[in-house]
Amino acid sequence: MRYKIGHGYDVHRLAAGRELILGGVLIEHECGLLGHSDADVLTHAVIDAMLGAAGLGDIGELFPDTDAGYKNISSLILLERAAALVSENYYISNIDCTVIAEQPKLSPYKQAIKNKLGQILRADINIKAKTEEGLGFAGRAIAAHAVCLLAEREPEFKFL
Ligand code: MG
Repeated sequence: MRYKIGHGYDVHRLAAGRELILGGVLIEHECGLLGHSDADVLTHAVIDAMLGAAGLGDIGELFPDTDAGYKNISSLILLERAAALVSENYYISNIDCTVIAEQPKLSPYKQAIKNKLGQILRADINIKAKTEEGLGFAGRAIAAHAVCLLAEREPEFKFL
């Protein structure tokens, strides 16, 4: 079986008056992330990891932020679309993510995020959370990394 690996990275600035959504889960916090869509930085990193592994470019090529149709869209819809494309040729084996944020603490939300992303991707999801110990831009922004492993479908099963 052929395997392909991909990496995704994203960062969004924190701003007042926005909801904080990570991995499709609403997180209680005094501010949220700025962006054209719902600015779900974690889901964006996951999408880029999947697209990268499949050799399908990146999220900006697939879902341009100049397209008004994507304004405030739930990033889970973009994730479903990206997963459908990737699934034509690959199974998703697993996805491992790191969210970098000074605040809020994500441990109470990790399981809900895993469930939400796992429901859509039907793959093993792991969520890790880190701070930058006050040394970086976390605090003004939230960043996320993701890696994704894909396994190529056998040709006769590709379109089942
Ligand atoms: Mg983004």
